[in-house]
Parts: sequence; C-alpha cells; structure tokens
Amino acid sequence: MTTAAATATATAAALDVDGLAAGYFGSPVIRDISLRVAPGEVVALLGPNGAGKTTTLETIAGLHKPMAGTISMLGSDIADRPTHLLARSGLALVPEGRALFPGLTVHEHLRLARSKDGVGQRELLAMLPELDKCLDRRAGLLSGGEQQMLAVGRALVSRPRLLLVDEMSLGLAPVIVERLLPILRRVATELGTAVLFVEQHVTLALEIADRAYVLTHGRIVLEGPAEQLQADRKLIAASYLGEAVARSADPTTTKGSTDEITS
Ligand code: ATP
Repeated sequence: MTTAAATATATAAALDVDGLAAGYFGSPVIRDISLRVAPGEVVALLGPNGAGKTTTLETIAGLHKPMAGTISMLGSDIADRPTHLLARSGLALVPEGRALFPGLTVHEHLRLARSKDGVGQRELLAMLPELDKCLDRRAGLLSGGEQQMLAVGRALVSRPRLLLVDEMSLGLAPVIVERLLPILRRVATELGTAVLFVEQHVTLALEIADRAYVLTHGRIVLEGPAEQLQADRKLIAASYLGEAVARSADPTTTKGSTDEITS
C-alpha cells in the first residue's frame, strides 16, 4: 500500500460520496453508494457490465442529478454544482469513448483545454512522452492508445484535484492497457491528484490501484485494499456474480464476464 493509501483516513478526502442514488427517468440504477478517495490515491471502481459504474462517475461529474445522498469534493458539497463550475473547482472526467474532435490536432486539443494555472506542455509531455511525436497529428488519425493518452492529457492540463476515468481500456489490446494504466499512478503521485477509475481489466487495475470498490446491480458489494483483493480473487469473482450480497442471484442474468478475474 502507498503512503497515500495509508493516510487515506487521516487526510481530507478529495472525494467523499455518501448514500448516493441516481438513475434515469426517475428509476435509480445505483443505490446507497458510499466511497472515498484521498488526494494522491488511486481507487478502482470494478464490476460487470451494467453494474452502474458509468452512472456513478457521471453523477459525481454532475451529469446526472442525485436522487439521494451527498457528494463532496475537498470538503465542499458539489451535488448541485453545474459541470462547468465543477471543472473550475478541480474535477476532470475522461469519459468512456474519449470524446475527442477527430479534425483537431493533439496540440489544438491541449491548447483548448489549458487553464491559467494548468499543467504546461513540457510537464505534460514528461508524463505522456508518447504524445510528443504526434502533436501536429489530427486526433482522428491517432491509434486507439494514442487517442486515450490524448483524452487523459486533455484532462490533465487543467491540473485536476480529482480525476475520474471511465474505462480507459475500451477497445484496446491488453498490451496497450498495460502501458496506459500506470499513467494514472504517475498522475496521482506527481500531481497529488485523487484518481477514481473504472476498469474491466481487473488484474491490471488492482496492480496500480491503492484500493478498489466492486459494484454489482447498482450497489457496492465489496471494497478493500488492492493487495487484499488481489489475494482473494474468489471473493471478487463471487461479487461479480452478486453472490457476496445475494447467493440466490442467477449468474446467467449477469452480463459481465469473470474471465479476467478467474484466469
Ligand atoms: P458498462 O461496463 O457496460 O459500461 P456500467 O457498469 O458502466 O456498464 P452503466 O452504464 O452505469 O453501467 O449502466 C447501469 C444501468 O443503467 C444499466 O442497466 C443501463 O442499461 C442503464 N442505463 C445506462 N444509461 C442509460 C440511459 N441513458 N438511459 C436509461 N438507462 C440507462
């Protein structure tokens, strides 16, 4: 466990979520979500498809109105804060699918996102050296891995205090994911940013995370230090199938795969 993780309970939380419920058209898809991320800490949000991971991140990022519960960032209530003010308060979201502009170059993406006290180009490229060689290339012509690096780089130029990352690995080969995920660790260590990330590659996620939460059917069913969860893979597999909370849950109704966690 890193120093950041060890002091997680002693320091003010960068993110403190308590009893959160949110969903669509008046029906909650996440319920009673409570989680905490300390400055400089890397926390993974794991779980099968449809568990509510994206909804959780998007609600924290102000894209959905909470139906219940509280969300605070660095001690301030942010549950009703508009997204543009959340960005100014230090929150950055790297959304699933990256949301880049195919016709703009890497340099243009970074320039548009830069804020007054943001991370300068030299500092950014030291963290993401692979972007250096493609600064003048249009985003639409980058490889999937380079596009993901750009999406993270664009989020970092505002020097966020809290970085939310939704499935960096989507559509990428595991060998690329192995290169990408450690960037999150570096961001937390070098910028002191609190990082909450959603990831399907459980093994790789637990290698870089300090702690993890497992979400199934909209509820947190398991949480703990990454080392402990790595050592107890059966518990994670059971959580994926909903067995940690309800042994009667029918695994065949769960869309998620446990391949990565049982291999
Ligand atoms: P995945 O790993 O597949 O991205 P997830 O854990 O991120 O899944 P969510 O995308 O948060 O899960 O979805 C949680 C539930 O909410 C699912 O049942 C999904 O069908 C539903 N849902 C997601 N987006 C919407 C929407 N825009 N309108 C209605 N229901 C939605």
